[in-house]
Parts: sequence; C-alpha cells; structure tokens
Amino acid sequence: MTTEELWKAVLSEMELTLSRANFTTWFRGTSIAANNNGSVVVSVPNGFVKEWLENKFNKQVFKVIHGFLPEVREVKYVIGGIRTAQAVIKKDFSQFIPEKTEERVDADIDKITNLNRRYTFASFVVGPNNELAHAACLAVTKTLGKLYNPLFLYGGVGLGKTHLLQAVGNQVAGQGMDKKLHYISSERLTSDIVESLKNKTIEEMKQRYAKLDLLIVDDIQFIAGKERTQDIFFSTFNELYGKNKQIVLSSDRPPSAIPALEARLRSRFEGGMIADIGVPDYETRLAILKTKAREKGFEIDDESLGYISSNIQKNIRELEGALNRIIAFSQIYNKTPELKEIKKLLAAYLSTPFRKTTHQSILKSVADFYGIPLGDLAKRSRKKEVVRPRQIAMFLLREEAKLSFPEIGSKLGGRDHSTAIHAYEKIKGEEDAVENTKQELILIKERIYQSFDGS
Ligand code: ADP
Ligand code: MG
Repeated sequence: MTTEELWKAVLSEMELTLSRANFTTWFRGTSIAANNNGSVVVSVPNGFVKEWLENKFNKQVFKVIHGFLPEVREVKYVIGGIRTAQAVIKKDFSQFIPEKTEERVDADIDKITNLNRRYTFASFVVGPNNELAHAACLAVTKTLGKLYNPLFLYGGVGLGKTHLLQAVGNQVAGQGMDKKLHYISSERLTSDIVESLKNKTIEEMKQRYAKLDLLIVDDIQFIAGKERTQDIFFSTFNELYGKNKQIVLSSDRPPSAIPALEARLRSRFEGGMIADIGVPDYETRLAILKTKAREKGFEIDDESLGYISSNIQKNIRELEGALNRIIAFSQIYNKTPELKEIKKLLAAYLSTPFRKTTHQSILKSVADFYGIPLGDLAKRSRKKEVVRPRQIAMFLLREEAKLSFPEIGSKLGGRDHSTAIHAYEKIKGEEDAVENTKQELILIKERIYQSFDGS
C-alpha cells in the first residue's frame, strides 16, 4: 500500500510541473513495481516512456521519492506491468508476462462531453477575485446563448478558469434538458483540426461542432498564430453564434493581448462578456484549502491551513499541490504532520533560491509571451510592440537572473546601463500597482520556470 501512495505523491507532484498532455503521455500506466534495498523500481508501459523518464524526469521523480524515503538511493525503470517488473528484479524470467497497465489518469472524464465531473459550482469557492467570472458562468447556464455570448474568461495560471468552464458544462449536462455540449482545449482542438484536414474529415468535424448547444474552448490563446485553426474556428463560431448557441472561452489574457490573433476573431471575442479572474486573497485561499481538504477527507488543523494559505499566494494549483504533499506524508508515516514538518514539506514551494534561470531562458520566454521574434529584443527598433517587452526583459534579467545593469544593457543590443536602470525602475513601479503588469509578470515567470517541461 505504501508504494502505491508514494507513486501517487510523485504523480501529483509531476502533474503540477507538466502540461496535461505531457503528463498523460509520460505518466499514464506507470506505477511502482518494487522498493528493494534503497532501489525503487518503476514499471512503465513501453521503451519510449522508459527513455524519457530516465533522461528527462528522473531527477524530479527521485527528488520526490527521496523526500519521503531518504534511504532510497536510486530509481530504475522497467518496461511491463508489475509482475514483469518484479520478475526482472528477481531475475526470474519465467514470470515474464506482459500485462495491461491501468489507465487511471483519465478515469473521471466523460467520453462524450469530455468533462471532468470533479469540477462543479458546488466545489468552487467564490471570493472577490473570481466573483464576476463565477456570476457570469452561472448566468450562462441559465440563459444558454441568450445573455452573454460568447463568455470570455481570462486570468493567470492555476486560478480556476478550467474549473469554472467545466462547472458550466457539468451544470448544463446535469439539467436534464438534453443539451449537446463539448469541452475542449484549444491545443487539442488544433490537433484535431490538423488530423481532420489530413484525413479529409474536416467537414464531418465541422458538422459535429455545428450541432452543439454549448461549446467550451479552454486556453484559446494557443490558437494564436495558427491560421488554419483560426479559420475553421471562425466559421464554427459564426455558425453557432448565428443560431444563438452558447460559446464559452478561456484564456490567460484578454483578447486584446493575444498576439497573432486575427482581428475578426478578436472582435468576436470582445463582442460578448469578458470577465477576469485575479489572484485570491488570504481568506479565499484558506476557504479553498478547507474545501479541498474536506473533499479529500483529510483532517488538518487550522494553524497548518493558515500557514499554507499565507505562504502560497499566487496559484491555487500549487496550494492544492502542497495539500497533496501533506496528505501523502500523513499516509506514508501514518500521522498528521506537525507544523515544523509542514514547513519542511513545503520548502519547495516557498523558497525561490533554488529556482535558477539563465538570461537566454528569460529572453526567450519574454519574446514568446509577446509573440515577437527573439532577435527583436536586441535590435535598435523603438516600435511600441518591442519597447515594452524589452523593458520587461530588462526587469526580469535583473530580478530573476541577477545580472548587473551594464550586463543587461549589453545582452540587449549594447544599450547603455542607464537605459536598463530606467526600464527596471519603470517596471518595478508597476509591478504591484498595475494589475496588467502584475499578471503579465506572473505569466512570464511561469514560462521561464517551466521551460524545462519541454512544451
Ligand atoms: P486554470 O485553468 O486557471 O489554470 P484550474 O481551473 O485548473 O486553473 O485550477 C487549478 C486548481 O485549483 C484546480 O484543481 C481547481 O479545482 C482549483 N481551484 C481554482 N480556483 C478555485 C476555487 N475558487 N475554488 C475551488 N477550487 C479552485
Ligand atoms: Mg486551465
């Protein structure tokens, strides 16, 4: 039982740092096959996954396991089910029977609507940061297609957009009015479109979408720059919109800030209702944490909850990750951790010193975020589209990579250090005072520190 929970802890940790698609690709069907003499053996479904786990994720996997079981010295990966893996360890090859590995990752997803039943209004905590978005979503479920169309939600990573979007879907599905609905991420939509074009089934796909009463597209910012997808999405959008069918969208930023989004789509997105989700305050974070603990049937004292809520501030996914970590600890050691243990368990979320980055990664993340070519940051250009990203880059080079001002100037096309100072001070002044700047910085930092994830 302990190995199962240990692996669960690893999975919930990895889930936080990877995109859903990556997580599913690399961790579906994996489990711990054995834990022998300081060596943990993980069974994986195929050689491809084995190679990736060994080369790309082993460090992280090891770190989590080692955090729980300090006596563990190595993690090995073997292909096949648990029995095969155990046979490999015991060098008993008569037992070498390939098994089907379980698919637990997508267990909660409805095949037709693609909704995860876990995300409901009932499990969503309303606070000042998401009040408007919540009210708009709820209104949409009662007025499908008639009031706010499209409804466009935006906000930073891990703040509850997917949860709300799916809650809309689950609510409508649960009303028993036989509405056709579908939830999809724009990444998945894009790959479906590419696939359908290749297989010449695009007309069928369009017809399938045209029959919907409610279409929910998550993370729509990813269709930026993808012309063919935008084209097809535009025609589907118009078709549904023309029939008063409801469309709900989410994005990490408002339509006006999505680069390389066709003007006709932007104006469609702006034509309905736009609601943002901000960073939750302490009370809201605490309430969310309590809800999550209750959902998971985990008892934990208020002091600990308060400690977690006051220290993890920017991202609810991290808040939940912290709780998962504590739950895993208590299952493995069969006791609820004390505050000083909680502090240790959460060190990874709280301190930033271990978060190392390079100037290349910063510049690339900034350029990607604003949708400009990397080289433009160092050019002489004074165009507005470049000046602002350049200032943000200068600020981040100082704050995150700790470069000196003369170094910053030279990394950005041999500019004078006074220019770098000016940019730094300007952005510093906006960091807490201007909501947009604050959000942008959070999003860019997410990119900087997730760039190891390969997506
Ligand atoms: P986003 O799509 O904005 O990146 P998610 O919707 O995936 O964020 O939210 C991340 C996690 O935080 C999810 O597990 C979600 O259930 C939880 N969460 C976010 N906001 C709330 C809230 N207000 N109440 C309860 N859970 C929340
Ligand atoms: Mg999301």
